[in-house]
Amino acid sequence: MKIKEIKIGKVSIPLKKPFKTALRQVNSAEDIIIKLIADTGEVGYGNAPPTAVITGDSQDSIVAAIRDTIGPKIIGMDVDNLEEIMTTLDGSMVHNNSAKAALDIAVYDLFGKLHGLPLYKLFGGYCNVMTTDLTISINEPEEMVRDSLEAVAEGYTALKLKVGTDAALDIKRVQAIRAAIGYDVKIRLDANQGWSPKEAVRTIRKFEDLGLDIELIEQPVTARDFVGLKYVTDHVETDIMADESAFGPYEVFQLLSMGACDLINIKLMKAGGLHNAIKIASFAETVGIQCMMGCMLESKVGITAAASIAGGKKIITRADLDAAVLLAEDPVVGGVKFNKNQLIISNTPGLGITDVRDWQEIK
Ligand SMILES: [Mg+2]
Repeated sequence: MKIKEIKIGKVSIPLKKPFKTALRQVNSAEDIIIKLIADTGEVGYGNAPPTAVITGDSQDSIVAAIRDTIGPKIIGMDVDNLEEIMTTLDGSMVHNNSAKAALDIAVYDLFGKLHGLPLYKLFGGYCNVMTTDLTISINEPEEMVRDSLEAVAEGYTALKLKVGTDAALDIKRVQAIRAAIGYDVKIRLDANQGWSPKEAVRTIRKFEDLGLDIELIEQPVTARDFVGLKYVTDHVETDIMADESAFGPYEVFQLLSMGACDLINIKLMKAGGLHNAIKIASFAETVGIQCMMGCMLESKVGITAAASIAGGKKIITRADLDAAVLLAEDPVVGGVKFNKNQLIISNTPGLGITDVRDWQEIK
């Protein structure tokens, strides 16, 4: 099976409600979806949601990187030689990880189809059902309480609250939500780089003193401040998770060498795809650091790929794969199924995706 052609297109999917973090606000999910067509006629699907504030990749840069630079290098390559394709992808240009991730996912999809294997089995086959948390956007405390109560009523057992705009208000937000939902539901916080290291320590200690029972706190400080991240990790009891800092395998290797965090959030768009995500999981597993599989605001193509690696690997103990649930529509046919807060991976080879509706080709 050889790679014959790459078709690039996009979908625009409205959200059920606006998504707000300390970094941005968006009302729809824009996702670039590629079709990697093999000489056998099989199609591999891959995606890249442009998330410039996190990955530095825009729609135009992703399309140009795939169409003009990286894509042509893998045309004609044999899907069975996964290793050769992956090193070619990696060496084709620096950065542009979202574009690389789209191609990497599509190649793995074809590889799975070629060998009749669902991807979660290829990655280790640990389990095919996982529980995801639900993200609660950053808003006034009352609105966040309403959203949290709604999520708990829908059956979510873990909430990820977006904080990080104002430490004093963040304490009010979490206090109000904890009082409303009780202590049976896990609360994770994501500050999206919103605090300084000392502000983070003060704020997190306050959460601890108030007995708010926070399971973990994601990315309290700015992405490049590894020393600041380690300072926070060393000075609080609560587990600290690296997200924006834990970009690709090299950054994760550095963070783990420094002992800068307690947990790692793996995302395909940061890592540059499944191949690098596996490396990150292996580094983390080596030193006993648990991982969460996260996502961007994206279609079910990327969610299925992320769920496949989360299902395959035992060291990935948490899933924050709620993007598909935040969407008002699902144009992706096949792939992972949702049952409330559970994701169920099918045993169909590859990603198990058969079509994407309302896909507009970009020439
Ligand atoms: Mg995060």
